[in-house]
Amino acid sequence: MAQIRIQNLRKEFGAFTAVQSSSFTIEDGEFFMLLGPSGCGKTTTLRMMAGLELPTGGEIFIDGEEVGMKPASQRDIAFVFQMFALYPHMNVRRNISYPLISQGVSKGEVRTRVEEIARILKIEDILDKPVGGLSGGDRQRVALGRAIVRRPKAFFMDEPLGALDAEFREHMAEELRALHDRIGATTVYVTHDQLEAMQMGDKIVVMNHGVVEQFGMPQQIYDWPASRFVADFIGSPSMNFLEFEGMIGIGGDHVMLDGQRIAVPVQRQGAEGKLTLGVRPEHVRFSDASGYRAKVIATEYLGTTQIVTLATANGTIKARISSSDKVSQGQTVGLEFNPRTLTIFAGARGHALVSEGNEGVLRHG
Ligand code: ATP
Repeated sequence: MAQIRIQNLRKEFGAFTAVQSSSFTIEDGEFFMLLGPSGCGKTTTLRMMAGLELPTGGEIFIDGEEVGMKPASQRDIAFVFQMFALYPHMNVRRNISYPLISQGVSKGEVRTRVEEIARILKIEDILDKPVGGLSGGDRQRVALGRAIVRRPKAFFMDEPLGALDAEFREHMAEELRALHDRIGATTVYVTHDQLEAMQMGDKIVVMNHGVVEQFGMPQQIYDWPASRFVADFIGSPSMNFLEFEGMIGIGGDHVMLDGQRIAVPVQRQGAEGKLTLGVRPEHVRFSDASGYRAKVIATEYLGTTQIVTLATANGTIKARISSSDKVSQGQTVGLEFNPRTLTIFAGARGHALVSEGNEGVLRHG
């Protein structure tokens, strides 16, 4: 069990900065996701925390102790690179026992620990089978068993489900999360898949170009993204962006789009110039009473809901509405947005302006 804190952590490879001054805290027992597109610095951050890469600057604390210069072997972390990496010539029991035997743990203790792990992973019946003939799911469980049998302070996993097909991946994601809930060890998990991060994580750090854009609980990040990048990266379809030129002052409670007054959460921060109003597809409603008009370009049936693509004076947006609502291509509709859920983005990086909705939630790295 471990609390892990990084403070102004930085990594340069020559002239290239892979991780720029990052800070966040992973609480003891959390399932913590490092999320972002390829090349954003997730793996480098994880490797620095594990002691596999030397930071260029900043500090790493495990349970309050600064470990930046400590080698990986002294950090008591299990790194799960690739779950299928088993010793093919050994049976399941030997595969799981191996880390304990190489540490010189007594035979009796090895037996007890392996059987305890087998119970947790529900693989007691295959302990004496060769790994060669096992199903993919069982192989994955054995590999996990080998990682957790040491009882490390924390588990680090780098895209562990990356190579699996979609269905099996979802199943293993559920198992991993359930296993975490049973053993409660701090887990840091790298993924580029926002759905996986939302489903599995207690907390998420979203990274982009080596910068921590935001960290928080999945729902906080979904509801109140700190930047346009986060708003766009999380959610499917992602948040809509209505571009407009205008201003909003501190205490302002509306913006003007195409001559129409659109209510927004009371602002704690103002801005002017090129602004963007962010609205999630499920917070767009059709209303004949609204003067803010849009034309239906396309509809996509998804079972209980449908995605409607709309052309507005401020750009193309998508609405998620019930499939029982009748809309047809070419139709003109009035739009309403749930005012409590709106975010205004400003500035070159598109940071979210602080409002009564997101204040207290926005935590940049
Ligand atoms: P991916 O999912 O593609 O691995 P990532 O977010 O994990 O992406 P990193 O592997 O941390 O990204 O890499 C971040 C950046 O640092 C990338 O541009 C990568 O090319 C660069 N990088 C990583 N390791 C090295 C290295 N040893 N030398 C030079 N550049 C590196």
